[in-house]
Amino acid sequence: MISENQNRLNFYDYLYEECEKLKSQELWRTLRRVESEQSSRIIIEGKLYINFSSNDYLGLASHHYLKEAAIKAVEKYGAGSGASRLICGSISIHHKLEERIAEFKQTEAALCFSSGYLTAIGAICSLVGKGDIVILDRLAHACLIDATRLSGAKLMVFRHNDCENLESVLKRINKERAATQKVLIITETVFSMDGDIAPLKEIVELKERYGAWLMVDEAHATGIYKSGIVNSLGLGEAVEIQMGTLGKAIGSAGGFICGKKVLIEYLINKARSFIFTTAPSPSASAAALEGINIIDSDEGKTRIGTLLSLIDELKMSLLSGNIDVTSIQSAIFPIILGSNENTVKVARYLMENGIYIPAIRYPTVPKNNARLRITLTANHTSEDVRLLTLSLKSALGI
Ligand SMILES: *Cc1c(COP(=O)(O)O)cnc(C)c1O
Repeated sequence: MISENQNRLNFYDYLYEECEKLKSQELWRTLRRVESEQSSRIIIEGKLYINFSSNDYLGLASHHYLKEAAIKAVEKYGAGSGASRLICGSISIHHKLEERIAEFKQTEAALCFSSGYLTAIGAICSLVGKGDIVILDRLAHACLIDATRLSGAKLMVFRHNDCENLESVLKRINKERAATQKVLIITETVFSMDGDIAPLKEIVELKERYGAWLMVDEAHATGIYKSGIVNSLGLGEAVEIQMGTLGKAIGSAGGFICGKKVLIEYLINKARSFIFTTAPSPSASAAALEGINIIDSDEGKTRIGTLLSLIDELKMSLLSGNIDVTSIQSAIFPIILGSNENTVKVARYLMENGIYIPAIRYPTVPKNNARLRITLTANHTSEDVRLLTLSLKSALGI
């Protein structure tokens, strides 16, 4: 028999070449095996580091209340949830968590998904489609971009946190906009890789003036700004779709949408990443519920206070080294170094000095914008911040 396979792309050759390409651009990533729980100290491959890489901003991921809540949930409901929520997996702990989120966020209702990524996919793909327009902040998280692409809506961007630019996009769209065409603006509040915050009041004014809808992702604001920036600015009524995650400051795993009851009922019926997936594990939901309870308590207030003063200390100290962090209003400090090579080199140097900060590269951030992304948590101390800045200054030669 004559082979039809001559000169066809070989599967493994293809993979090998693609991997080599990444390596040659310093874009190669590998997993580091962590042997401890998530906290300000972390053991990676047998070595202890001060950990400045976690999104566990309030130090709740390893809090004994969350562990206890997870254990109790396993004992009561089992390890797995058995099916999707609409089949038989809608366990009372999921409902309790959603009621608690709605109370915390001061909305009528909430709906949980297995991850933040799936939350974005489910919400955006069920709300807009072909013929509609989504306008994203240029630095919006990958899940918001992916969801928009998957929805089939036209993706447009506005310059990061630039309301003048957003307005010009809205003006252009409205010139020839069909009556039924939906326009959805999506922004984060605290930006995940830049640590700055969106001008939310102005964005709300624009979306009302131009008849657009607004979705806000508070993944990195929930917890530090207590229930989020939308609430702290009293904009809950104006933002149609509020999104959050349970795996960052809340200390567990999962994502959620909150808003009016009709939105939640709509998503239960339409969001495919909610419908066609097994419900979150009872232990994750129980831990998230406990995380919110702590954030909403006096202990939460103390933890937020500790984090805010560490943020101030790091900010002062970086500014004194002429590192521009004036726009930072969160626990995220990007040190933008530009090239992949340099960023990886500095990250390696810091690791040799017992400090773990990840080198964030394309496609997580734009090309030539590689950076160290430092995150502080309430489990750090002033001494940790002092050690961090000493090592950082020596690594950068300042
Ligand atoms: C982390 C993150 C997500 C995704 O949440 P996961 O629960 O980790 O899937 C979504 N949006 C933003 C802005 C994030 O930083």
